[in-house]
Amino acid sequence: MKYPGNVFMISAPSGAGKSSLVNALLKKHTDIHLSISCTTRPARPGEINGREYHFVSVDEFSQWRDENNLLEWAEVHGNYYGTPRSFVEEKIKNGENILLEIDWQGARQVRKQFPDIIDIFILPPSVDELEKRLRNRGQDSDSVISRRLLAASSEIAHADEFEYVIINDCFDTALAQLEQIVATAGLRYPSQAVKNHKLFAELGISYISK
Ligand code: GDP
Ligand code: ADP
Ligand code: 5GP
Repeated sequence: MKYPGNVFMISAPSGAGKSSLVNALLKKHTDIHLSISCTTRPARPGEINGREYHFVSVDEFSQWRDENNLLEWAEVHGNYYGTPRSFVEEKIKNGENILLEIDWQGARQVRKQFPDIIDIFILPPSVDELEKRLRNRGQDSDSVISRRLLAASSEIAHADEFEYVIINDCFDTALAQLEQIVATAGLRYPSQAVKNHKLFAELGISYISK
């Protein structure tokens, strides 16, 4: 599927700072729409249904999946996560930019459907720092933190499937690097052709959606 908007996909081991970076990016780039996943994990304190996630029961999740309403889905840390299909497809059709925050298993499924996707893996600066961040976040129980730390190395083992890598040591540097990727994506031919359609028409070049 060809589309003038850009689809960004970000993965990371839990605690690397993915959500913090994405939230900071989206504040500055209001033209990028975040896909809200659905999940069967319980909401953390402060999380609101429909903002961070659509929190659903296993039965509701299974129904959405079986009705083919999910673009991808995966079991991560003992819970189900999935990307609602209709939101993504609608935005893409309208030429808008989308961002998916999903795990490597989901990333594999999405790449097959959107080969022009821009995918980014966020790494922590060290294993110790990853553990510190998970503990400092203070929102998961000890057993959940241990489970996520155990899973970190197997998630990191899939970093080589991603085109870009950002090491989230200094937050502002990592954010600037993420913004560089977004800015570069905006220079792709289809994006430029849509943003500058008058100029492209005057010059006799155009973008034909395939
Ligand atoms: P609501 O919570 O009052 O909106 O009740 P609904 O039964 O309409 O939806 C249940 C939850 O699933 C809501 O949080 C929806 O936003 C969310 N949801 C919306 N679209 C999808 C989708 O394609 N797949 C899944 N799994 N959930 C979705
Ligand atoms: P993820 O979404 O990858 O699980 P979060 O964005 O929730 O990670 O970040 C985990 C914790 O680390 C949060 O408490 C966050 O404030 C903190 N954090 C994120 N980036 C940095 C950074 N560069 N330096 C220090 N702490 C950070
Ligand atoms: P958390 O529970 O910390 O918010 O997320 C745990 C993991 O689930 C992260 O690796 C995150 O990328 C992944 N995840 C979140 N939403 C989705 C989704 O819609 N699909 C898939 N495949 N993974 C997701």
